[in-house]
Amino acid sequence: MSAATCPSCGDRFDQDASWKKTCTPCWKLSKRAEHVELLELREEVRELRDAFAEVRAADLPPDMLARLIRLCHPDKHNGSEAATVATQWLLARREART
Ligand SMILES: [Zn+2]
Repeated sequence: MSAATCPSCGDRFDQDASWKKTCTPCWKLSKRAEHVELLELREEVRELRDAFAEVRAADLPPDMLARLIRLCHPDKHNGSEAATVATQWLLARREART
């Protein structure tokens, strides 16, 4: 066991293990801060998941997507490039959904 100076508060403390870098009160404070941060991060993840679910719900309804794919198909537009690009984009959205 050796005496050490806590870098957080400047108090002297018994460093009875090399991994103990701060005094016990400062260690407890840092653990409490980590716990608070964890709770805040959990809340943030929950909010972001909810927001993401809302964005997905606002997506094109499947029946509307199928209708748009049929309407845009290049075969119905003399193979136009615009129809091809639009159809590819719609198909990619349908793919991403599954
Ligand atoms: Zn301390």
